[in-house]
Amino acid sequence: MINVQQQSMILIVDDVPTNVQILAEALSSVYRIKVASNGVDALKIVQRERPDLILLDVMMPGMDGFEVCRHLKEDVRTQNIPVIFVTAKNANSDEELGLNLGAVDYITKPFVIPIAKARIRNHIRLKQQADLLESLSLLDALTGIPNRRRFDEALAAELKQAIRDATPLSLLMIDIDHFKQFNDHYGHGAGDVCLQMVAMELAKGVVRPSDLVARYGGEEFVVILPETDQLSALQIAERLRVRIEKLGLPHACSETGNVVTISVGIATQARIPEGFMPQLLVDMADKALYAAKENGRNRVCSH
Ligand code: GH3
Ligand code: MG
Ligand code: MG
Repeated sequence: MINVQQQSMILIVDDVPTNVQILAEALSSVYRIKVASNGVDALKIVQRERPDLILLDVMMPGMDGFEVCRHLKEDVRTQNIPVIFVTAKNANSDEELGLNLGAVDYITKPFVIPIAKARIRNHIRLKQQADLLESLSLLDALTGIPNRRRFDEALAAELKQAIRDATPLSLLMIDIDHFKQFNDHYGHGAGDVCLQMVAMELAKGVVRPSDLVARYGGEEFVVILPETDQLSALQIAERLRVRIEKLGLPHACSETGNVVTISVGIATQARIPEGFMPQLLVDMADKALYAAKENGRNRVCSH
């Protein structure tokens, strides 16, 4: 899930081949290198490859480096990629402009290679730390699966996609049965372990890479199932319910059985209208979950 060891990618943007060559030679043993010789190509490569750092020349025919930087900083998807200007423009006013545009550093040509390498290494380290924090902020600390924040982002994105492609979207709301009694009987520590086991089992129980299992809060989990109609969602929900039951985690004081079980509420939207609010799907799944609880727990209900 988190891999900071992976080789970082650096995009070198310069219209003069020798300049590119000098940098590429100095860096290619440590980093993966991509190259662009003009601003337009640079922006295309950034969209496609999401480099970890951009070394950006200023004077280029067509779109200059400052303009490229402006574009990068205006786009939420690219604004956190660090930019270092590497340029012959050595006036203080140019350096000031570059840094004010959001560049993390400004290196003037001719430069001393070991110093430039050290600066680049430091900025790459900061980028890795920022990436790590970003990914941790989207994971639930107890179970290690995606958290509520990640779920909210993913649901909004999947709804947009489903509207664009006119595909169905299903959502499962899952709640552990009689979990308060579990905590009361076995203790809060055992309750935490139970939550971890259930989370892991649910995560293993979905197959498509686009399916997302998240901890919604407390002992509630959610599953986003893109391109999934009601019948398929029902089959997946039932499969998850059985998996948890088969885990066989003892629950001596459950009124539903002698092992830990879950109830599942399903909401499916076959065709999603423009402007559909994510909360509506959550509410539908929640209502279905309530029905599953009312009807005896350890079962699946559709909205
Ligand atoms: P129901 O079958 O109707 O869902 O009953 P329930 O007891 O599972 O539901 P209730 O909402 O009454 O209780 C949920 C319990 O989950 C209460 C709370 O202490 C426990 N819980 C919530 N978050 C955590 C957690 O992070 N760790 C532990 N150990 N327990 C938690
Ligand atoms: Mg609950
Ligand atoms: Mg519960």
